[in-house]
Amino acid sequence: MSHIRTFSELEQEAIKIYNEIKDKDLKPKDRMAIPQMDMPSQDPIIRGKNQQEVALGYTKEQAMVEAARCLQCKSAPCINGCPVSINIPKFLEEAAKGEFQKSVDVIKESSLLPAICGRVCPQESQCMEECTVGKSLKDKMKSVAIGRVERFVADLERETSEVKTPEIKPSTGFKVAVVGSGPAGLTVAADLRKDGHEVEIFEAFHKPGGVMIYGIPEFRLPKAIVEKEIETLKSMGVKFHMNFLVGRTRTIEDLMEKDGFNAVFIGSGAGLPKFMNIPGENLVGVFSANEYLTRSNLMKAYDKERVDTPIYHSKKVAVLGGGNVAMDAARMALRLGAEEVNVIYRRTKNEMPARAEEIEHAEEEGIKFHFLSNPVQILGDETGRVKAIECLKYELGEPDASGRRSPIAIKGSEFVMEMDTIIPALGNASNPLIKQTTEDLITNKWGNITVDENKRTSIKGVYAGGDIVLGAATVILAMGEGRIAAKTISEDLLNNKL
Ligand code: FAD
Ligand code: SF4
Ligand code: SF4
Repeated sequence: MSHIRTFSELEQEAIKIYNEIKDKDLKPKDRMAIPQMDMPSQDPIIRGKNQQEVALGYTKEQAMVEAARCLQCKSAPCINGCPVSINIPKFLEEAAKGEFQKSVDVIKESSLLPAICGRVCPQESQCMEECTVGKSLKDKMKSVAIGRVERFVADLERETSEVKTPEIKPSTGFKVAVVGSGPAGLTVAADLRKDGHEVEIFEAFHKPGGVMIYGIPEFRLPKAIVEKEIETLKSMGVKFHMNFLVGRTRTIEDLMEKDGFNAVFIGSGAGLPKFMNIPGENLVGVFSANEYLTRSNLMKAYDKERVDTPIYHSKKVAVLGGGNVAMDAARMALRLGAEEVNVIYRRTKNEMPARAEEIEHAEEEGIKFHFLSNPVQILGDETGRVKAIECLKYELGEPDASGRRSPIAIKGSEFVMEMDTIIPALGNASNPLIKQTTEDLITNKWGNITVDENKRTSIKGVYAGGDIVLGAATVILAMGEGRIAAKTISEDLLNNKL
């Protein structure tokens, strides 16, 4: 493991470079010579015992130096990698000059949630993947750290200035219902409200925010940031109905026929956990990652002194899977006091879908990885509790349809590891409730709602976007879908198409 540099070392490095480059007319080769600014982070031993954010954020000098690495490419390929087409060179140019407010204003023309996306976007496979700097250095991880600068300017604005309530156009008299309060629903609500429509959000949980609140842990995304965005929506006049399960409390048809909504947007996400269907998955001590994380994040099970949310007291934990959800569950188990946390993944580290930064952080914190291994069964004791997991060893064969090499089981390679807790984190599918209670709503074979390119569903006046359409995807994609849907809804309402 490489040496983790301290906050002070990183700060000093940035100040030194900043003093060298400030007031200079930097040529592309000077910019290419600037090293990428590392993100300061909490010490792994300390953070493994707390819920506070791991990444501490750039200092002012770090943000300016990192932004100065941008070559201001005329064709700006990075913009093509951003699902909401933020004007990246422009916001970096402003940040490099220390014009932080102007920088965040540029971002906000395209993104509603920059402090959130700057933290959780899989940047290395989006904007950073296309960046000329990374391509020239033949390492996309060394591209301009676009999201880190985005996070810095958004945080600075939130911490130092009053939240501005966006301007709202005069009332149109139209009413829109939004089902679900994740990034898709919140974006639709904000954009429609700005256009002068009345907007009401219906959310099944007692707190709004979707996965940003119940799934992604505090140590990666502080909840106060999401809550502040929600406060802004409330100040704009968006109404929130919590503990409201559409499909049970009211159907989509009720909302339109009985409650007078002119349009409905469905942003109900993909919250249904997948299991492996292997023997032993019903034993006590097996939890879906969704349940485990919801108890910890939304129900604050980690705050043992103030809340009494039950959570299993684990010593040896196995998390099954290799995505962001698996990394979150593993790192949460560590923070909840587990003595040993193992991740079991059937391919190798190279094929893991989790963000590189999350894998690195998990390794630093002492999570053990068992690659090319896959569970066959979970073994229980006489009281019905988990006592071990049996796995098979795998090797990689030819690439499959996704381009990744398929894992092939090695006969006779079974091995058993003692465990008391198993957390399958194999991805999520869409919850079938809305489909089951909405006649004529067309979905695909995975249960995702079918929409046209403008997010219209098969029912007039009903739109959908985010994970319920894409399958489990990302925050920024859900936000982008919400943006398109809001535009369509507004146009349809104002042009009397409904
Ligand atoms: P969601 O965020 O799922 O919100 C849907 C909301 O609808 C929920 O609040 C739900 O309670 C509500 N709802 C559902 N059904 C109903 C109903 N019938 N009535 C009323 N309300 C209902 N993405 C990233 O970009 N980066 C990451 O690092 C990342 N990490 C993740 C970690 C975890 C643990 C998980 C689970 C996901 C992660 N994702 C990440 C994915 C990302 O969070 C989702 O793609 C995104 O939140 C989808 O947004 P959404 O608005 O479509 O749905
Ligand atoms: Fe990159 Fe995400 Fe920011 Fe777009 S929103 S610029 S993809 S970090
Ligand atoms: Fe700057 Fe990279 Fe975008 Fe070029 S591709 S404008 S270097 S961020």
